Amino acid sequence: MYKRLSRDYVCRLGQPIINRVDTSIFRKTYFAHCMQCDFCHDSCCQAGVDIDIENVRRLKRHGKKLQAYVQYPRKQWFDDTFLPEPEYPGGQYTRTRVVDGTCVFLNREGRGCLIHAYCLEQGIDYHKLKPLMCCIFPLTFGHGALVPSYEINYDDLACIGPGPNLYQAVRGDLAYYFGDEFVREMDEVERISLERYRKRMARKQKSSSQRQELHVIS
Ligand code: SF4
Ligand code: SF4
Repeated sequence: MYKRLSRDYVCRLGQPIINRVDTSIFRKTYFAHCMQCDFCHDSCCQAGVDIDIENVRRLKRHGKKLQAYVQYPRKQWFDDTFLPEPEYPGGQYTRTRVVDGTCVFLNREGRGCLIHAYCLEQGIDYHKLKPLMCCIFPLTFGHGALVPSYEINYDDLACIGPGPNLYQAVRGDLAYYFGDEFVREMDEVERISLERYRKRMARKQKSSSQRQELHVIS
């Protein structure tokens, strides 16, 4: 179910603009503590990721220093073709390359994203260089709506299961991109949505117990 927000929230990068939310992001859960995960093998990075043209430019400006972290040469970092997409910052995007079976920026000798590691070690806020789609994963967006990623909807993420809900896991990143007012409104949408869900479940449970009782009596 989609819930319309009270206004448009513009990402600090200019796009996307969010004004709706799929409320299933408050009920679906996953492990979320990526660097403590000992079973996923960073499988969510296997396909590479969409990256907007402005992010590519920012990464290229750090190319020389970042190269010391990435095993593959700079010319292999991104697909050559840029496609138009008005909801991405800069209006165009490409993808990070998949090399030897996973994203070119994945650490082959350990765990995690090398862009993230580079930012931490250089004292750079990782939001400035790590792709937006990675920072808010496993959420994504489309047509103004914040929604679960494809991997969640198609049960294709190794870490689906106990943990925080999709929204709570990336709440801090959403605050960075869309502001404190956005997450305050989202918190309220979450509270109402979960309350309604609990009531619906309680009603379902009650009517199922009543049906069972009738079945025993008859
Ligand atoms: S999101 Fe899941 S699959 Fe991806 S790195 Fe984190 S724990 Fe692993
Ligand atoms: S950029 Fe980093 S987080 Fe994103 S898919 Fe590649 S390795 Fe994973």
